[in-house]
Amino acid sequence: MRHVPRANPYRDSWAGDLDAARAGGDARVSGWVHNRRDHGGLIFVDLRDRSGIVQLVFHPENGAELFSAAERLRAEYVISVAGAVVRRETGQVNPNLATGEIELQVAEMQLLAESQPPPFPLDSDVELDEIVRLRNRTLDLRRRPMVDALVLRHEVVRTIRETLSDEDFLEIETPVLTRSTPEGARDFLVPSRLSPGNFYALPQSPQLFKQLLMVAGYERYFQIARCFRDEDLRADRQPEFTQLDLEMSFVDEDDVIDVNERLMAKLFALGGLDVPPPPYERMAYDEAMLRFGSDRPDRRFGLEIVDVSDALRLSEFKVFASTLQRGGVVRAINCGCRDVPRSQLDELTEVAKRAGAGGLVWAYVQEDGTWRSPIAKFLSDAEVATITGALGGLPGDLLLAVADTAPVAANALGALRLELAARWDLVPEGRHDVLWIVDFPMFGYNESEDRWDALHHPFSAPTTPTGNTAADLDAAGGPGSWGSRNYDLVVDGWELGGGSIRIHDPAVQRRVFAAIGLDEEEAEARFGFLLEALRFGAPPHGGIAFGIDRIVTLLAGRDSIRDVIAFPKTASGSDPLTGAPAPVDAKQLRELGLRSTVAARVDA
Ligand code: ASP
Repeated sequence: MRHVPRANPYRDSWAGDLDAARAGGDARVSGWVHNRRDHGGLIFVDLRDRSGIVQLVFHPENGAELFSAAERLRAEYVISVAGAVVRRETGQVNPNLATGEIELQVAEMQLLAESQPPPFPLDSDVELDEIVRLRNRTLDLRRRPMVDALVLRHEVVRTIRETLSDEDFLEIETPVLTRSTPEGARDFLVPSRLSPGNFYALPQSPQLFKQLLMVAGYERYFQIARCFRDEDLRADRQPEFTQLDLEMSFVDEDDVIDVNERLMAKLFALGGLDVPPPPYERMAYDEAMLRFGSDRPDRRFGLEIVDVSDALRLSEFKVFASTLQRGGVVRAINCGCRDVPRSQLDELTEVAKRAGAGGLVWAYVQEDGTWRSPIAKFLSDAEVATITGALGGLPGDLLLAVADTAPVAANALGALRLELAARWDLVPEGRHDVLWIVDFPMFGYNESEDRWDALHHPFSAPTTPTGNTAADLDAAGGPGSWGSRNYDLVVDGWELGGGSIRIHDPAVQRRVFAAIGLDEEEAEARFGFLLEALRFGAPPHGGIAFGIDRIVTLLAGRDSIRDVIAFPKTASGSDPLTGAPAPVDAKQLRELGLRSTVAARVDA
C-alpha cells in the first residue's frame, strides 16, 4: 500500500509500512491479531492489516491493565494500538517479513471487536478443504494467498484499463438483462414480471452489443464484462465469469492481434511470466489438430502426434486398412523409453475410448527394430520400420496409435498427450508457451444434432479460397468447406482469449444463419436488430475477448480460477456462503406467472 492513511484515532500508518526508517518514531496501527505468543514475561502479537504484518510487543512495565488486556487477545480480535517503533535486537530480526527489522512497543490499545475462534488457522499455508474455505469465505479472504491474488487481479484490470484508454478505446457498458446471444452454451433466464411469460437472458457475452457499437461509429470499445453460461462446470469454468471484451472498426486480423499482443505482453510482465516478447507465433488450426490433437495445444512438452496413414495404405491389417479405406487416419505418438505396466496401458486405452476412439494400439520398439505389440504379427517388417522411423522410435520406446476418423484420432491422442504429461510430470517448471491459433474452419459438424455448429460463433466472417462475399460462399462446396477469420490466444494449453473479424455484410450474415439452420423468419425474429443495423452502413470490424479469471490464475500460478475470484461458485454451480441457488416463495413465483414442477433440492 503506497498512500499514507489520514491519521485518525484508529491508525496513522499501515502495519506493513513500518520499517527501519520509522525506528525512533511513534506509530498507530489497526488490524487483526494474526497470532499471539507469550514469551518470558513479554507478549508478542503479529498484527495484520491488508498491507502486511507488524510485530507488537507488550511489556508488563507499560501497565498491568494493558498487559492483562494483551493476555486476553485471541486470533482475529480487532485492535488499534499505538507506541514506539524500535529496532529489534540483531538476533531477533526476521528477514522474511518486510517489517522484520522493527517492532512496535505498545503503549496503548483499543479492543475494537472480539472474534470467535476461526474454524481454520489463517496464519499458515495449510491446505484446506475447498468447501470449508468457500463456506467461510470472509475468513478465507483474509489469508495472504487470497489477498495477493485479488491485488494481482486489480493490477491486471488496472493495466487493461490504462493501456486501452491510452490506445483510444472507450469503456462502454452493455446490458445484463438482454436477449439470448449464441456463444454455444445454455442461457440463464430471468423471468419478466412486467411481461409475464417472457424472459430476459443473461448475456453469454456482449457480442452483439459490441458489434452494434461499431456500426454506431464508436470505433474502439472495451468492457470488463460479466458473462453467464449455464454449462457443466470444470476447473477452469464458472457459471459467471469476467471477460475483457473489445472490438475495433476498420481493422483486419493483424490490427486486433497487434493491440492485444502489446497488452498481453504487459500483463505477462506484471505476473513475472517468462515469455518471449511479441509477435507471438501463429499456427493454423489444422496443424494444431494434427500435431497436438487440440485447438489449444500445450507445447510445453513433446509427445507430438504423427500421421502414419501413408505407410499403411497397403496394409493387410484389417483394422488399419478398413479405417483408411473409409477415409480415416492412423496417428501415433512416441512416448519415449518407458516401461509401462499392462494395467496402465489399459488405463490409457480407457482415456482414448472416453475421447471417442474404438481402442488404442501399443507397441514397444525392440533392440532389433521389431515390435513387441499385440498387432506386431499383422504388420510387415517394412511397415513397422517406416512407422518407427516416422516416430523417431529407438529401442525401448513405447509407441501409441489410434486408427479412426481424423477428428476422433486427434481428440483421443490429444487427450492422451495431456494424460501422459500429467502422469509423468512432463511440464517443466516455469516454462510458458504462447501462440495464436488461426485459420479455423467456420463450422464443425454436430453429429448428434445433425447440423453445422459455428466453431466460434455465427458472427465471425467466413472465408472461401476464392473470396468472402455471399456469392463466393454460394459457389464454395458447402458450409463445411468455409474457413473463418478467427484467432485464439493459447497459453500453456489454455484458451486465454478468442475473437474474429466479423461479418459486416447482411447478405453474408444471412448465409451463415441459413447454414446453421435458421430460416429467414427465425433469423429476423432472433437477430433482426443485428441484421437491421448491418443494413445501415456497417464498417468492417473485429474484436476479441479474454477470460480475466484465467489470465489472473495463470499469472498468479494457481490451479483453479476459484482462487482468483472473491466469491466463486463450486463445481456444481452453488455458493456455499450464501446458499445460492435457493428456493423462492410461492408468492414470488406467482408474481412472475411461474409454477415450479419440481421440489427444490436442498443441498446439505
Ligand atoms: N464473444 C466471443 C466470446 O465470448 C469473443 C469474441 O468473438 O470477441 O467468446
